[in-house]
Amino acid sequence: MKNIIFTLSALILFCFGANAQNLKCGTTQYNQLLRDQNPDLYLQQRNQFEQGWAQYREIHKDEIKTNILKKSAQPKYIIPVVIHVMHNYGSENISDAQIQATITLMNDFYKGNKAKNVRPVFQHLIADCSEIEFRLAKKDPEGNCTTGITRTQTEQTVNATNEIKKLICWDTKRYLNFWVTESVLSNGKAVGGYAQLPFGFSPANTDGIILVGSQFIADNTGAHEAGHWFGLSHPFEGDSCDINGDNIFDTPPTYFTYSKNQVNSGRGDSCSHPLTNTCSTDNPDLPDMMENIMDYFGGSCSSVMFTLEQRARMFYSLENYRSQLWAADNLVNTGVLDATTPCTPIPSFGITLNNVSTSTTTCANNSYTFRQTSYNGTVTSAEWTFDGGTPNTYSAATSSALNSPTPAITYANPGSYDVKLKVTGPSGSRDTVYKNYITILPSTATLPKNAYNANWDNYQANGWYFENENPTTKILCQI
Ligand SMILES: [Zn+2]
Repeated sequence: MKNIIFTLSALILFCFGANAQNLKCGTTQYNQLLRDQNPDLYLQQRNQFEQGWAQYREIHKDEIKTNILKKSAQPKYIIPVVIHVMHNYGSENISDAQIQATITLMNDFYKGNKAKNVRPVFQHLIADCSEIEFRLAKKDPEGNCTTGITRTQTEQTVNATNEIKKLICWDTKRYLNFWVTESVLSNGKAVGGYAQLPFGFSPANTDGIILVGSQFIADNTGAHEAGHWFGLSHPFEGDSCDINGDNIFDTPPTYFTYSKNQVNSGRGDSCSHPLTNTCSTDNPDLPDMMENIMDYFGGSCSSVMFTLEQRARMFYSLENYRSQLWAADNLVNTGVLDATTPCTPIPSFGITLNNVSTSTTTCANNSYTFRQTSYNGTVTSAEWTFDGGTPNTYSAATSSALNSPTPAITYANPGSYDVKLKVTGPSGSRDTVYKNYITILPSTATLPKNAYNANWDNYQANGWYFENENPTTKILCQI
């Protein structure tokens, strides 16, 4: 039975992963949700942003058109980034190297390096946004050495929402937080990711970008969502063929509705149809700008450029809404100006109970395996201590041992037990004691009958079974 469950889970994961590449952005739905919670306040803050943008555009209109708009105080808007990998050992558990390559890819999109195939009609609008640069943080919020990447094992990585941000979040005024997951829901729909806009009343501790890991490393999803995070809208926003639906004058209007196409379908490969023109409300009547990173077109020519006005709007947003990020003191505090130095690894691990569950509570005589998932630096050895377990210590110092689960650790007696993990790398050691991490119940547990009603299916799936039931208690154990 366990094998059947596992195979079915793997199949579902595989199917979902195979479709993930086509998933679209959920930012519009996410912000509709925020707007619905407090429409007046949302509208007031949105209007304030748009009025400020209109003034900024008017003041700088000549510089924008001639592509000489410059950042004023410092040479660059450097954005300190932290990537929180929220994983359960699946494809979402992207490597440090993949993340570093993706940051480079995002910067390439912003530099305009991907815009070689833009049609002549739009070439004069390609923006060089190299003044905006994403950099992985080198200091964490406490000033410790960091790779700018954290790793957290969690089952919430499937159909992730803002809830997952409660598990880990660095000060969003100082870091652009990315949460990388297996799959993402926005207002109940499966999406590739979504971003929080720079204006609005949503809490600071959810500000950032959540996205599907396999999609993040494969395409422009990170660049697109960061565009939202800087305040850009989709060119098709607003009413049908609204000439100014995205409040950007140099993107031609395009037509796309969620109701007809649903959030998870794009427009297909339109690059082989270069005259595609869904709107004629503009004068002169230009074809759709399928090259724009903020639209949903597919194909080899698509999603490769920002326009001059989009660049200016991002500058406006950075100056007025996100200025603390790139302020000189924050660049020092987040270490993004420093040379890269090796960091001491941070202990981290996942557990498996009887090969089927990640529950930290079980009955006596069951066995756990532990797998270290330490991050933030090279690990050359790991030393475990399992209070109350047999065996009660284990050490690994080879690559294969470090990347494999520990032997089965069996707990014979009821109680709460610490797990201690010490990891060592070239730049030092760090150990962590996880207090009372494992709870062992008597081999048959008596639980209040009502306590687990809502989650009973989960308990069954994780190997629990009824011993007995009476009006006030359920007698359970885990096999
Ligand atoms: Zn979007």
